[in-house]
Amino acid sequence: MSEEVVFTVQNLIKTYTGQTRAIDGISFSLHPGECVGLIGESGSGKSTLARCILLMEKFDSGQMWFQGRGMLQPRTASAYRALEGQVQAVFQNPASSLNPRLRIIDSVMEPLDTLKNRTPVMVQDCRQDRLKCAKRLLNMVELPEHLLHQYPHELSGGQKQRVAIARAISSEPSLIIMDEPTSSLDMITQAQIIEMFMTLQKNIGLSCLFISHDLATIQRISDRIMVIQKGRIIDHFAKKALFTSERHAYTQQLIHKYSKRGSKL
Ligand code: ADP
Ligand code: MG
Repeated sequence: MSEEVVFTVQNLIKTYTGQTRAIDGISFSLHPGECVGLIGESGSGKSTLARCILLMEKFDSGQMWFQGRGMLQPRTASAYRALEGQVQAVFQNPASSLNPRLRIIDSVMEPLDTLKNRTPVMVQDCRQDRLKCAKRLLNMVELPEHLLHQYPHELSGGQKQRVAIARAISSEPSLIIMDEPTSSLDMITQAQIIEMFMTLQKNIGLSCLFISHDLATIQRISDRIMVIQKGRIIDHFAKKALFTSERHAYTQQLIHKYSKRGSKL
C-alpha cells in the first residue's frame, strides 16, 4: 500500500444539541486508490461521519486535510470552493440525490458545470462538448447513452444509482463516500453495481470510504475495514483479518449477528 495520503481526519468530534457525541474522536487516513469499509450498527454515527467529511455538517472540533487543499473548516463558503468537487458522495436513496425535474444529462453534468478552476483529466478532450462528456460518464457506469434524455422517474432504482455514481465521479474526485449505496436495491442489482463500481474505482484510481451494514459487500469491496461503535472507531484491520480471532469483541459480536441474520447487521 502506498504511503501517500489522499485524505486525513484527526480527532473529529460532533455533538447534536442535547445529545451525547455522535462522533467521538475519529481519526484515519486514506491512501490513493484504496477502499476502506466502515461497518457498524444503525445509529453508530456512520452517516454523521460522512456528512462531516463532506462539510455538509458543522463539527465541534477536529481537523481534515484533503490532498492539495490543506486544512478545511466546515460550513464556510471558502471551504466548499476549496474542495472543488474533490470529495463526492452517493447515498442510499438514489431518488433523493437526483433532481426529478432535471434530465439525466443535466444531473450527471451538474458538478462539472459548476467547476470553474479545474478541468478533470478524465474529460479534458471533451470539456467543450457537453453531450460527449455526459456519454462518456454514462459509459463508465455501463448505462446506455439514450438514458441521458430521460428523467429520473423513467429509470429503475439500479439505473438511478448508476447515474448517481456517474454524477459523483464527473468532477474526478480524489475521494468518494458511498453511504449504503445499494441498500435499497434487490440482491442481484446490488451485486452488479458493486462489481461495476469496483472496476471503475480501480480504473480511475479513486479512494473510497464505503459505508454499509452488509458484511458480504464490505468484505468484497474493501481493502481495509473499520468498525464504528457509538461514534468511535473501535477496530481497524486488513480485510483478510475479518474473521480472525484477534478481532475486537464487538467486531466478533457483529459478525455473529451477521451470520445469524443473513447478510445484514
Ligand atoms: P448511522 O448512519 O450509523 O445509522 P447516524 O450517523 O445517522 O448513524 O446517527 C448517529 C447518531 O446521531 C444517532 O444517535 C442519531 O440519532 C443521531 N443523529 C443523526 N442525525 C441527527 C440529527 N440531524 N439531529 C440529531 N441527532 C442526529
Ligand atoms: Mg446512516
